[in-house]
Amino acid sequence: MSTLNLGRLSRLVLLGVLAGSVALARGQAQSPKKVFMITDLEGVSGIFDTDLQCMPGTSPRFEEARKLLSGEVNAAVDGLLEGGATDVVVWDGHDGSQTLSVLDIHPKCRLLTGAPVSPTFELDGTYSAVVFIGQHAMAGTAKGILSHSYSSLGVQNMWVNGKPVGEIGVRVMLAGYFKVPVIMLSGDTAACAELHELVPEAECAEVKSGVSRTAGFMLPHPTACALIREKARRALQRLAEFKPYTMMSGPVEVKIESTTRGVHSYRPREGVEQVDERTWVFRGKDIVDAWLKYSAF
Ligand SMILES: [Zn+2]
Repeated sequence: MSTLNLGRLSRLVLLGVLAGSVALARGQAQSPKKVFMITDLEGVSGIFDTDLQCMPGTSPRFEEARKLLSGEVNAAVDGLLEGGATDVVVWDGHDGSQTLSVLDIHPKCRLLTGAPVSPTFELDGTYSAVVFIGQHAMAGTAKGILSHSYSSLGVQNMWVNGKPVGEIGVRVMLAGYFKVPVIMLSGDTAACAELHELVPEAECAEVKSGVSRTAGFMLPHPTACALIREKARRALQRLAEFKPYTMMSGPVEVKIESTTRGVHSYRPREGVEQVDERTWVFRGKDIVDAWLKYSAF
């Protein structure tokens, strides 16, 4: 083989190696990234009053509220797609799935709507990440706009293994059970702080800031959407930095204290026990086991 041919051969080998690395890089970029989006209404910018805005069918400004949520959801879908998402499932999580519509939801996502869905909202280990849009803080949070835990009138306090939690905490833990990290949230300042307590590295879009439970400073809708899109994109681009929440491995005790209006008589059985007139505990071998015992009522 002549020197010339040897040179040609090494160039061919080099080209082959380069083509291989490009294919590899492409393969990595195209590895499926399926994202689950938990949506709620109370954490959307512009929302501050349950009766006025959040009750499907009866609130005079529900239609406006629905549009505000749809806009924020669609901005998040855009950001996630820009960040490399290959599939985005949006769960209509507010009040029995009566808010989002396939008429105006982002054409590149899938909507999970209707009731009932499983107490773990059909999440499983095939997802790469969970994000919250329109999320509110737990019941009793200072300056948390429309703060509550699952039931506005029914739940005073919730704990998991002694740790105070609301919807954010429980869902971070349930996602952790399926080995899926929570990477981003949009909501008010209080909801962002609540997620950061559990997931310090999470991206948060603070779209409003409460001055009381029913008032606060709100970002204009287009500004909130731009912020959400940016945070969602960045969160998914940083996905490799996130670990699922695993602090709740091992036996779990969910403790629920009802409000005086929400007193509920559960049926005592294995793992279900009354502590006092308004407080019950639900014990399980893990968070899902304990949560299913509570959700079964
Ligand atoms: Zn809600």
